[in-house]
Amino acid sequence: MRVPSGTYAPRIRRFRLPRLCVAVASDDIATMSERAESLVRDNPFLELRLDYLSQPLAALPKLKSLIETHPDVTFIATCRRAVNGGKFKGSVAAELAVLRRAADCGFPLVDMELQTAEALKSSELSELYDRAGMIISHHNFRSTKHLHEQFAAMTKYPADFYKLVSTATSLHDNVVMMKFLEANSAKHEMVGVCMGEQGIISRVLGVRAGSVFTFGAATKGEETAPGQVPATELRDIYRIEMVDQATQVYGVVGDPLSHTLSPVMLNAAFRRESVNAVYLALHAKSMKDLLACVHDIPIRGLSVTMPYKQEILAALENSDPLTRQIGACNTVVRSADGKLYGFNTDVAGIVVPLQQRMSLAGARVLIVGAGGAARAAAFGLKAKGAEVFIVNRTPPKGQALARQAKVKYLKRADIAKQEFDVIINATPVGMNGNKHSPLEEKELNTKFLFDLVYNPAETRLITMARAKNIQVIPGLEMFVQQGARQFEIWSGKPAPLAEMGYVVTKALERQATQAAEAHETPAKRPAAGKAVKKASKAVRRT
Ligand code: NAP
Repeated sequence: MRVPSGTYAPRIRRFRLPRLCVAVASDDIATMSERAESLVRDNPFLELRLDYLSQPLAALPKLKSLIETHPDVTFIATCRRAVNGGKFKGSVAAELAVLRRAADCGFPLVDMELQTAEALKSSELSELYDRAGMIISHHNFRSTKHLHEQFAAMTKYPADFYKLVSTATSLHDNVVMMKFLEANSAKHEMVGVCMGEQGIISRVLGVRAGSVFTFGAATKGEETAPGQVPATELRDIYRIEMVDQATQVYGVVGDPLSHTLSPVMLNAAFRRESVNAVYLALHAKSMKDLLACVHDIPIRGLSVTMPYKQEILAALENSDPLTRQIGACNTVVRSADGKLYGFNTDVAGIVVPLQQRMSLAGARVLIVGAGGAARAAAFGLKAKGAEVFIVNRTPPKGQALARQAKVKYLKRADIAKQEFDVIINATPVGMNGNKHSPLEEKELNTKFLFDLVYNPAETRLITMARAKNIQVIPGLEMFVQQGARQFEIWSGKPAPLAEMGYVVTKALERQATQAAEAHETPAKRPAAGKAVKKASKAVRRT
């Protein structure tokens, strides 16, 4: 239905909009319509990126029936020009023609870049504003700077929503965006988000700082902006519709952090136990950036991973004796007055799965490695009365740890001559595509093998151990146990271990299938799934 010129578009109000808008992009109108059709059932708010289409103007009549068939869905039409970071090669006048036609086809909202608004006559702009709800946008693909200036320029033009999209080059850029939203969202209807991997905080927490909605990708691989999170993740893992002022913020901090499964596991635990909390992946490139963010957001607790487990100690007000002894902290609690307290739950992650299978007093345990995880194992197992041995690629480091933890150092050449109750792999050998083993088959003289690597579920070392009928303890058990202790420290509630194990298992299965599809022959896919299932069975038994 064409809106006659001179009628006024019903103004879109924030309370009518869901918090999550899913971006749909395709260069072909049939695919775009099909994708939109398949998404509308779960997503009543879609942005159609008309600029991805080769002929957007010609395609619009086809989208009209889509809009008419789904009167409960709010559609945004966007036709961003290439100079503004979109795909549309046409002129400002051509963009205007597309947006006008989109309004006439029934799109309730159109999105126009500030530079386009600046290039139009005010009569052209108000005529479009009369036909459809209007979003004026500004995108900065490099930084999060000059938000006030950009916003001042935008508010010269009539719009229903002002959308500022910047790029986070640090975690603190999210704080800048959220403070900006807090300061301005009472006066204007705003949308604010930081792009980039480090913009995750603003994508989840922006809505509680005043962003009327946020954007999500249709699926992984269908992102229309860097760092966009799939809509199902925002909804199911981060529970975006529930985030409010009272939501406590937790996160895992590390660098790099792209493959972490901690958000999947801890968010599932919070959801299961009805804790109003959200847990984010915080890719911090420096400790200074992290600490500024922790205090400004404020973050209630952190899981700390490589390379910050030692560096974080200097920022702690206090820590438990074992953490001090080990010299590494993987869990932080922030008190109401902003002070940080440290714990080490890696110890429980190693000790608990072993105690469930044996008495540790007098057990002969060989630890391979002398890094953070090996330190947790050495001090934790020694405290339980085990007879601990260490071997390490760089002997002086292993010898130093052995001295500090008051355990024995073994030369690599002597391992094959010894018998152990447990061998623990505390090196990254076997992790993420590494097909090697830190030990040779003849060195595996042990009843149990505990491989701390949990991704992939089946490492070469584990395969070698199974072939020798050695009982395997998968790294997944440590991952779930250390996360469970973190949950208990933060929430004061018992951790839902079964749920945590289940969601991590499912996530590993998905990753294994995707990896198999990407790199291997179909025949190898079932094997990848089986390996994860074996690991998950072990977790369920605990
Ligand atoms: P880290 O502090 O970096 O220590 C790594 C250790 O592995 C060092 O002793 C290093 O020896 C040794 N190493 C590295 N590459 C090696 C190689 N190619 N061959 C032989 N030794 C090698 O790491 P971390 O934090 O202790 O983590 C170690 C492993 O435990 C990682 O795979 C990690 O994923 C796993 N982990 C698992 C969990 C879990 O929840 N399942 C939790 C924590 C850690 P040098 O001294 O010679 O450098």
